[in-house]
Amino acid sequence: MLVLKNMENSKNVCQRCCVRCNAHLAGVASNIILSSTEVNLLQSPKRVFTFSIPLKKDSGELIFLNGYRVQYNDALGPTKGGIRFHPEVNLEEVNTLSFLMTLKCSLAGLPFGGAKGGVAIDPYTLSKAELERLSRGYIREVHNFIGPDIDIPAPDVNTDEQVMAWMVDEYSKIKGKFIPAVITGKPLELGGSLGRNISTSLGGCFILKKLLEILDINQKDLRIAIQGFGNVGSNMAKILDEWGYKIVAVSDQNKGFYNEEGLNIKKILHSQDKKGFLPDDFEGVNIISNEKLLTLDCDILVPAAVCCQINKENADKVKASIVLEMANDPILIEADSILFSKGIKVVPDILANSGGVIVSYFEWIQNSSNDYWTEKKVFKKLEEKITKAFLDVWEESQKNNLGLRISAHKLAIQRILTAEKLRGNLT
Ligand code: NAD
Repeated sequence: MLVLKNMENSKNVCQRCCVRCNAHLAGVASNIILSSTEVNLLQSPKRVFTFSIPLKKDSGELIFLNGYRVQYNDALGPTKGGIRFHPEVNLEEVNTLSFLMTLKCSLAGLPFGGAKGGVAIDPYTLSKAELERLSRGYIREVHNFIGPDIDIPAPDVNTDEQVMAWMVDEYSKIKGKFIPAVITGKPLELGGSLGRNISTSLGGCFILKKLLEILDINQKDLRIAIQGFGNVGSNMAKILDEWGYKIVAVSDQNKGFYNEEGLNIKKILHSQDKKGFLPDDFEGVNIISNEKLLTLDCDILVPAAVCCQINKENADKVKASIVLEMANDPILIEADSILFSKGIKVVPDILANSGGVIVSYFEWIQNSSNDYWTEKKVFKKLEEKITKAFLDVWEESQKNNLGLRISAHKLAIQRILTAEKLRGNLT
């Protein structure tokens, strides 16, 4: 078994993520023979930063938080990846996620390598002023190592447009001029891109449309179930509903709604409470659990919530013929092979949810050129780019009779290795 460096024997590591990354490499290694030097290169993060961020609390107390940034591989260009604030953030997790960003950017054909960052803190325990000081503090620790041509952060778990606004402001103050291209996911007023808020969901919808076209399946007959009704899941439901698809089930972390004739998505969106949860009472729906949603009698299943939802216990009960992984890592490795053996087409996360990083790339182009695009142009370019990535993966899978996931990983890794060879880093 291949083992990503820094992950072996770690106490805090998410073993599932570690296993997944190793399985990526092992799967690819068995399908395109990788030399031991290539494997070593792919297992080695390029630059790893760990630092202590001093944070002055409103009470006057000074605390010190662990911060991380991993720039995993920059063969294809400056590294790109989000910054998350979460109590369970640790170096191993950030390392794994930066590897996955490297694959995602490569597969989407972006001129970026992969990175990830984070701070081990529960941001909900902080006041707004403390959150601002933390965001600025993070940038003060990494400003010498990031930049539009070096490493470009973005939002991730528990970081949003406002956090990006504070970060870009801090970076610009340190450098003495406004440099919007250093960070993406900014508010529109500070150089954010039109369309970014729905870009992950819209990208997934474009892929689904293309896949159905290739399989010659009529959308009118399809029943779609979406797990997770947050940013990604609710926007996906909204777009698909507007496009005339029938959504039979949606859920948040508490419960799901099901109607085999199709749900009234507009009304559900209108009835969400302030925190975005589904309403307690809603006419004409059956209340179902999240577990039940995953194994419903439907055609397309969209896990758009959290990781590890489909495992070896429930994989055999999945009835959908297509699974679109909008969440990161919703299917455990052992479940993947069960779904594959049942002939279920799984569109992997590094492809399905890459719409967000693609539009982040567009934001970076707009900032660098000072030429701002209409939403129509952003969406047209997103459709072109994500459809091309999907077709590349589809062709690869057809040519070699491989699943979409292994094909996606294979293409992404091959591109990185080619770039490394051209640079002279590999023989
Ligand atoms: P979000 O926090 O806005 O929404 C998450 C949704 O999942 C909520 O409806 C929540 O109630 C539900 N949920 C939480 N725990 C659950 C559980 N245990 N079971 C079922 N449902 C649960 O998050 P989001 O931005 O919509 O992201 C969803 C997924 O997509 C995540 O895996 C994220 O990493 C991935 N993703 C998001 C983006 C993006 O642009 N937002 C980009 C790429 C990948």
